[in-house]
Amino acid sequence: MLTYRNYIGGKWVSSDSKEIFKSIDPARPLHILGYFQKSTKEDVKTAVEAAGKAYEPWSDVPAPYRAKVLFNVRDLLIKNKERLSRLLTLEMGKVLPEARGDVQEAIDVFEYMAGEGRRLFGHTTPSELRDKFCMTIRRPIGIVGLITPWNFPIAIPAWKLAPALICGNSVVFKPATDTPLCAIKLVEILEKAGVPKGAVNLITGSGAEVGSEIIKNKKIRAISFTGSKKVGEYVMQNAGLKKVGLELGGKNAIIVMDDANLDLAVDGIIWGGFGTTGQRCTAASRVIVHSKIKKKLEIALLKKIKGLRLGHGLKSTTDVGPLINKSAVEKTQKYTVIGKEEGAKLLCGGKIVKMLGNFYTPTLFTNVTPTMRIAKEEIFGPVVSILEAKNIDQAIEFANSVDYGLSSSIYTNDIRNAFKAMEKIEAGLTYVNSSTIGSEVHLPFGGVKDTGNGTREAGWGGIEEFSEEKTLYVDYSNKLQKAQIDVVKFKK
Ligand code: NAP
Repeated sequence: MLTYRNYIGGKWVSSDSKEIFKSIDPARPLHILGYFQKSTKEDVKTAVEAAGKAYEPWSDVPAPYRAKVLFNVRDLLIKNKERLSRLLTLEMGKVLPEARGDVQEAIDVFEYMAGEGRRLFGHTTPSELRDKFCMTIRRPIGIVGLITPWNFPIAIPAWKLAPALICGNSVVFKPATDTPLCAIKLVEILEKAGVPKGAVNLITGSGAEVGSEIIKNKKIRAISFTGSKKVGEYVMQNAGLKKVGLELGGKNAIIVMDDANLDLAVDGIIWGGFGTTGQRCTAASRVIVHSKIKKKLEIALLKKIKGLRLGHGLKSTTDVGPLINKSAVEKTQKYTVIGKEEGAKLLCGGKIVKMLGNFYTPTLFTNVTPTMRIAKEEIFGPVVSILEAKNIDQAIEFANSVDYGLSSSIYTNDIRNAFKAMEKIEAGLTYVNSSTIGSEVHLPFGGVKDTGNGTREAGWGGIEEFSEEKTLYVDYSNKLQKAQIDVVKFKK
């Protein structure tokens, strides 16, 4: 069994701790995939030093040349897509077609951000004074710390690494403890693609030890964090004056109006609620349905859910894979109990599967009201709650009755309903006649309210997250000109 090491200053090195931890297949927890360094705060400091040395030379490379390295990463990802996808399914559990999507997202984001190497736009604007030129340029931030979750173990690191690198930063990267192997395989590709020594450093280990040092380390100038609201709050409280980007949880709703194409809505709910076993930040965990079609929708959903097959993600017959670990199974079960106690009606599922892996039956609750905990809190498992609304205004009110605001969707054929939802739902994303999931890398991604702090990833948002805008004034008048004080006169 292989023991994998940290990647610091271009070398694969063991941790100071001399301790290791294992990564397993969540569908077969006895199947160990490898051992990894249980790193310490000292390891982070060594990585920060390496990132510091690499920063100046890397940021000095013209961005179109940095882009060439990113294009190499894209090409290597394409070449290794199937191998990486299978490994991703083994370590994280999602079914193989979704794992391929995860890797494809990384390919897309490296391609997109490589293209940004020839743009990285600033802007020009007129001066209020004569013979003076005003413009902005984009500069890197310095050393940036990336902390990522396990649910998109290739795509989310790529969403951060690609813009961080194209903007000229150097990186200290900590992946989730449940998926270190995917992170190592991604960094191996970066190394092979020509990312210079020290520009990317990878440290495996716990959030409490490695993550908190990254957050607090004074030499790190920015943090990009994706994960839970609880840890996001910790990041905010401990990062000092660093630039912080937070992408946190969701409690996403699909509204189904009485004029909707019901078959389309059912497919969207199944995909949004049970795809990735409900372990997406954008998962559809609430369905808000118009009273007139509630019964019909419940029957159609039940029929589809009963046909979902649980199993190992590598099997072509599997629709729903395992949950990431035992505590995720326990958390999902806890919410089933809470839902029943709150008076919601369990239509199907609600059971731990008596198989070796971390499996849970796809679960559907109805008669859920907006104040119930299962309607408000993120479960991050295969649980969908149905709420009933009497009209579009009430449906939107229910959609907005949670602390989170990541994704949302409406199924309707009435353009007035669609535009009301697009305008009024408090979320970073709204889909019309499509599920809550399926972002594209050239558009901004992120949430409002407790889902984050307003930053956006992907697209131009990624460039803004990982660069500073610098303002430049060039005065070629050859005299002291004073903005706001000198009065410009018309020439006769
Ligand atoms: P998590 O427990 O918050 O962990 C995320 C990362 O933070 C992991 O690398 C974790 O390390 C690390 N961490 C934990 N405690 C830390 C600390 N005290 N200091 C610094 N780092 C720390 O979240 P998760 O369970 O991995 O992921 C699921 C959550 O992520 C859900 O809430 C989901 O909605 C959210 N998510 C959001 C988005 C989005 O774009 N909005 C996308 C995907 C997922 P360990 O693994 O070692 O604990």
